[in-house]
Amino acid sequence: MKIQCPHCECWSRVTSSHKATDTARTGYAQCTNLACGHTFTITVTVGFTLSPSAQPNPRVLLPLSPTITRQRLTDQMRMAPHADVAGLDVASCGLSGRPWYPDLFDDPPPQSG
Ligand SMILES: [Zn+2]
Repeated sequence: MKIQCPHCECWSRVTSSHKATDTARTGYAQCTNLACGHTFTITVTVGFTLSPSAQPNPRVLLPLSPTITRQRLTDQMRMAPHADVAGLDVASCGLSGRPWYPDLFDDPPPQSG
């Protein structure tokens, strides 16, 4: 694995690394530019899941990438049945004149009688 030196931007060589966690490794890197000579530590972490593993580790909980999550939500919304607002029976909602669309943020209709 190569990484750019943060000072001179030449390629640096990872000389050693070890597992820090199930999703991270830490190690040492050395710049290959002899005029620079920078040595530094690195940390490599796993970011997002793009495609789920066929052999998942139960200790590893990685979020799906935002792009994949957005695509899955779009697919679910396309497959969901469309609301039939025009077919609402206003009389059975206990209201007269104003249709009531059930919503989490809406107050329930007043009870009559
Ligand atoms: Zn360097």
